[in-house]
Amino acid sequence: MTTRKEIADKIFPNVTETIQDLEKKYPTRQNPICSRFAPSPTGFLHIGSVFASFVEQRFAKQYGGTFLLRIEDTDQKREIPGAVDLIIDWLKFFGIEIDEGPLGANNADIGNYGPYIQSHRKSIYQVFVKTLIEQGVAYPCWMSETELEEIRTQQTTLKVTPGIYGNYSLWRNKTPEEIMQKLQEDPNFVLRFRSHGDFSQRCLFDDVIKGKINMIDNYNDIVLIKSDGLPTYHLAHIADDHLMRTSHVIRGDEWLTSVPLHIQLFKAFNLPHPQYCHVAPLLKIDEEGNKRKLSKRKDPEADVAYFFESGYAPEGIMDYLLTIIDPAYEERQKANPDKNYLDFEVKIEHMNTSGALFDFVKLQSMNNAYLSKISTDELYSQSLIRAKKYRPYLADLMQSDVDYTKAALNIERHTEKDPKRFTTFQDVESQILFFYDEEWEKLLPTKPTLPEMCTADSMKPFIDEYKQQLNLDMSLEDRFTQLKEVGKRHGFASNNAEFKEWWYVGKVGDLAMFMRIQLCCTAKTPDLYSVMKVLGKDRVIERLGRL
Ligand code: GLU
Repeated sequence: MTTRKEIADKIFPNVTETIQDLEKKYPTRQNPICSRFAPSPTGFLHIGSVFASFVEQRFAKQYGGTFLLRIEDTDQKREIPGAVDLIIDWLKFFGIEIDEGPLGANNADIGNYGPYIQSHRKSIYQVFVKTLIEQGVAYPCWMSETELEEIRTQQTTLKVTPGIYGNYSLWRNKTPEEIMQKLQEDPNFVLRFRSHGDFSQRCLFDDVIKGKINMIDNYNDIVLIKSDGLPTYHLAHIADDHLMRTSHVIRGDEWLTSVPLHIQLFKAFNLPHPQYCHVAPLLKIDEEGNKRKLSKRKDPEADVAYFFESGYAPEGIMDYLLTIIDPAYEERQKANPDKNYLDFEVKIEHMNTSGALFDFVKLQSMNNAYLSKISTDELYSQSLIRAKKYRPYLADLMQSDVDYTKAALNIERHTEKDPKRFTTFQDVESQILFFYDEEWEKLLPTKPTLPEMCTADSMKPFIDEYKQQLNLDMSLEDRFTQLKEVGKRHGFASNNAEFKEWWYVGKVGDLAMFMRIQLCCTAKTPDLYSVMKVLGKDRVIERLGRL
């Protein structure tokens, strides 16, 4: 008589270790709190993944635990070269520090609980599934695509619950002899889990975020190992999260419906399951006014690169994400404005259970507040990183004279009336472009119309006198008095009362607008005298004269 052990040995002749042997290699952690981010390397990082990984990392770190990165690449068709580094680089960009994962050169493992890339863990999954075969809780299945399709059609016609369970699973009830016979003939099979197949059973569990859950239990004989020898997500999750000693599985709530299966699998292995914490997705209102998940296919803002390109600072984004994670964050942050966002405790049990609308207006205001707070050096270096990627010509300009660029950026920053020139790093371009002579030249044809009384002929005498007197070391007040005095001599009244006199052609405000447009090629600039100080005397004289 063929035994289950013989079948297991026939399938995995080289697997001699047991789960207990593996457990010894990966002992329980000193600090038992451990969470993980487990993306598939598809070459795209969803902002929702940054959100979830931030929650995972904050949660682990605030309890002094471990946060690890595991790459879930068992669907090799979807794999893109370089995708692992892309994930690591993005997490770094957002300041999400990882303790363990494929973080070394050439994605070498850092940490004692690896390999951290699932395709390198094949032998581990084999140990797990072999145990189940020996116990009769997993079995090989040779059902073809045609057979699977026929069953689907049959179930639809009969209006019965779809799936592979009970007698719908053609290999579930075969004798060990029949299975052994088939194994000799055909190496192309999958390994299925033998579930109880009863849809009247319920699964009750506590989700840290969603609370008490009561769902229909799993009744399907799902695939554990695919015909390519790699595990499905379900088996990999059990083996990996057990051996990596994950205490809290924080993941997207699209996985909530799989929990009954996962709990069943943990029970089949006689292992405790981790705490489940299902994070609701980020939502948007679509064109029809309906709320829906941010979609990778439809929404450019689903891609994290969008935020970088649009000039958001990682800190601004994280600050905003914290308001979604914990509704009490904003108030606590306002009460402690100097505290770093990473120093606030995150309470995942406070998280919204049904999904939060991604609010760009709020993100902008938080980004704006962040940019207003940082030093000009920081503003320079962060905006340079972005410019290097998306605006190389601007990056070249910014580096051509670093001090000059910083001085241009610095105007009116950290002052009481802080006009917040920069909402995103994108604003840097329009705010500083005219400071560079070659760009100013290019802007000349787009220059707004000068006040009508400021014709080339009429302004020449004013410019000649103003040039003589130009002194950029004066106080703001003296400089304005001087402009008024010179202006008066050339037909510009100092105030409305004076302007009533017939001989004035305009007011000092017109004069200031004339200078602003001449110097900057735009009618909207920060304080003009500060701009002039940065431009320097030579440039001011040169630009005023270019009528
Ligand atoms: N690889 C899965 C995904 O990208 C991970 C889910 C999990 O965190 O367990 O959705």
